[in-house]
Amino acid sequence: MTNYPSILLSDAVEQMASLPGVGRKTALRLVLHLLRQSNKDVDAFAGALLRLKQEVKYCKLCHTISDQEICPICQSPSRDRQTICVVENIQDVMLIENTGQYHGLYHVLGGVISPMDGVGPADLEIDSLVARIQPDGIKEVILALPTTMEGDTTNFYIYKRLHNLLDSLPLREGMGVGLKISQIARGVAIGNEIEYTDEITLGRSIVNRIEFKL
Ligand code: ZN
Repeated sequence: MTNYPSILLSDAVEQMASLPGVGRKTALRLVLHLLRQSNKDVDAFAGALLRLKQEVKYCKLCHTISDQEICPICQSPSRDRQTICVVENIQDVMLIENTGQYHGLYHVLGGVISPMDGVGPADLEIDSLVARIQPDGIKEVILALPTTMEGDTTNFYIYKRLHNLLDSLPLREGMGVGLKISQIARGVAIGNEIEYTDEITLGRSIVNRIEFKL
């Protein structure tokens, strides 16, 4: 146990070390670095985090982080409004946007189904995904979830929900033909590992997406 010469210092290190991937040694270095900055700079640092937490909004349609009720992607008239790409989290939206290869809409689930961690379908934005299918005239849903057991479970669950939905809908113009459900090419790491996939590979896997098969 490290002996800190100050409770203030120890508290600050404790908070910093609570961040993922930050050990105590790094936490101490970061805290001492901040201590050397001007009051103005530390205010700006802490203020940005506080404002983010207090004022952050999530797009009412796709659930990505947004400064407005509806995010710029969902608002944009130049996006393909018939395609929704389903991702686990907000970082995935940013990564796919960086590829410049996808021009449809998104839906952020906020996680994947994981019974081990107590995460069930009701904890995720799955109902709201299913609800988007009808009024928006969506023609294709692209599943871009992690290639893990949890990702597969979630893919399967969404696939089943969408199929049940299509079966229950009266045949309407534009919907009768059904909905295409596809997934990005297997072998492309997404989710926790998506950061290790380069943009070109990720972009290609979206362009060359394949039909989702059970
Ligand atoms: Zn949105």
